[in-house]
Amino acid sequence: MNKALINIDYTVDFIADHGALTCGKPGQAIEKELVVRVTKQFIDNGDFVVFAIDKHVAGDDYHPETKLFPPHNIEGTEGRKLYGELEEVYQANKHKDNVYWMDKTHYSAFAGTDLELKLRERGITEVHLVGCCTDICVLHTAVDAYNKGFRIVVHRRAVASFDAAGHEWALRHFRHTLGAEIVE
Ligand code: ZN
Repeated sequence: MNKALINIDYTVDFIADHGALTCGKPGQAIEKELVVRVTKQFIDNGDFVVFAIDKHVAGDDYHPETKLFPPHNIEGTEGRKLYGELEEVYQANKHKDNVYWMDKTHYSAFAGTDLELKLRERGITEVHLVGCCTDICVLHTAVDAYNKGFRIVVHRRAVASFDAAGHEWALRHFRHTLGAEIVE
């Protein structure tokens, strides 16, 4: 099966209580069973696993998010590390051929990155999405994946948002508008 896991923005700034732009409890609730379990399963199966992680530079007045959000995921800071046990899973597996850390600078993991090339080179036709936020970076990544013709699978219990209504709306949008499969 030519599938990949896109693990989106599960970092200290987006998940920890003290994170700069945190999802808080809904984000923390998906850690053990799902972000960690799903990620380990994909790595152990030999599937391609991408850590698509927001990267910003302090004082970047040109970036559109500067006007929208407080500074977050700043290069070289603690806030940009993966949160909790996911950091341990990444550190233990980062040397493997099927594990790929990819900096991104916009909501979508496809925006300004080589993600599409990496997927096409491997003959991957199906992308599985986990992480946060359901209605921001996961959503924009899903829309781009749809437009590029990838089949989409969203792991419902491994995505989270600070906005409960936005989370539910995005899940409906994945299913009904992007034709995604929603799995537990
Ligand atoms: Zn950002």
